[in-house]
Amino acid sequence: MTTPTTPVDLSGSDVDAVLSAYRGLALKETRALRRRQGAPQHAPRLEEAQVYWSLLDVAAVLRGDLAVGLKALDDARREAGVEPAGSSVPAPVKPEEMTAADRDVLDRATHLAITVAEDLRNLGGAAILKNTFGGAKSITGAVLDVLEKVGVVLRQVFDATTLGTVPPKELRSGFVLSATLPAGFVALASGIPGKVPCIRVRPGAVRTGDPKQAAKELVPALLHEASHVLPTLSTLDLAYRDTVAFRLLPLTFRPANAAHFEQAAIEMLELPGSLLTGLDRKVSFSGADDLDPAALSAVDRAAAILQVRVVRAWVYSFRLSGSGISRVTDEPRALFDDVAGAPLGNIPWSLRQEIYDDLFEGAAALMRILKDEKVPGENASGALAALRTEAGTAKSAPTISAASIVDRTIDRMLADLNAAGRLAFPDALRRLIQGCHRLESKALGDALGAHFEAWGARP
Ligand SMILES: [Zn+2]
Repeated sequence: MTTPTTPVDLSGSDVDAVLSAYRGLALKETRALRRRQGAPQHAPRLEEAQVYWSLLDVAAVLRGDLAVGLKALDDARREAGVEPAGSSVPAPVKPEEMTAADRDVLDRATHLAITVAEDLRNLGGAAILKNTFGGAKSITGAVLDVLEKVGVVLRQVFDATTLGTVPPKELRSGFVLSATLPAGFVALASGIPGKVPCIRVRPGAVRTGDPKQAAKELVPALLHEASHVLPTLSTLDLAYRDTVAFRLLPLTFRPANAAHFEQAAIEMLELPGSLLTGLDRKVSFSGADDLDPAALSAVDRAAAILQVRVVRAWVYSFRLSGSGISRVTDEPRALFDDVAGAPLGNIPWSLRQEIYDDLFEGAAALMRILKDEKVPGENASGALAALRTEAGTAKSAPTISAASIVDRTIDRMLADLNAAGRLAFPDALRRLIQGCHRLESKALGDALGAHFEAWGARP
């Protein structure tokens, strides 16, 4: 539950923006309370709170009625059997200490990852690189450059690893064991310019009982993460391996996409998940040549566009969320606010943080839906199913473009999440997803914008 429990200081704030922020959070919470397991059928306090927040206007806020609304929300919580906000403090997660045995596993994994990066750069890796990145000279040059730097960074990260207790956030360099990585992450890198980066690793990935196997399985993740924290030209997450977008990503973007390096490592080690296993080595997993958009269905193109957009919105909202690990400077924050728009406005920091957290929660839910996983407690059958439905509806109007399938799908997913009490600010998240390329560097942002447009234009 993320509604602040007390009204913020309104002086110097944009009262309209403050009101929409509170309203969004409060109504989200009432919807979440309604669908709680065991919530009472008849809930007069909840209905009162919903009506109150729907009708609250700026004049009332200036009169001090925010406090009344927050009290109404507290009554609704109590009626639903929820502890009043702020009364229960979650137990702190005990930081994992790095043991000598853990470091040995990471030592082995680092060695293997550096060897894999070197092998990929040499003749042995040529076929894999061609399959993964295509054969163009300029692209191969960029890929070899990343692989070279990855080896250097991984060595630095391992050398900076210390045994024992985890240092405070801002002092972290080297490998650190962390049980609180976002779901599905084996490792997660963060870096501050001029400092050796930190790579947090899930303890379960290190302590498998089979150090050799653990090292092998860690290697693709280490290559992926190290490629994010290079001194220059680091990679991004444009498309994860388990998505349509990964297979359809145009060649020019692949040297900038971490998961393509992860894939190359998997192919090199011939691990499960290799798309080449059992195939003739000459067969490419996604075509070493760029795919002709005309050869793809509008649904496939829409899925690919949607996944890249959502991943980028997720990454940016993660950085600004409370779970983010790197301190965000003012400049990217201002750009983010500009792209996400209302209700960010001029509002106090504590409230703004709640909005960032909400956008991240919504984007994370979209990521799960896009992987066709069900969102816990919901009947969402997956965005790709929704896409297909959109395409089905579109049969009567065969000229519907991929871009409008994307728009309709985003609208549908956001409306579902909002109705389920999992997202307070659907409009802000929609703007963020649609404008995500504006958050990138100019060259990449322009290229992505042009790509979305070209792939979206066709029916
Ligand atoms: Zn990544």
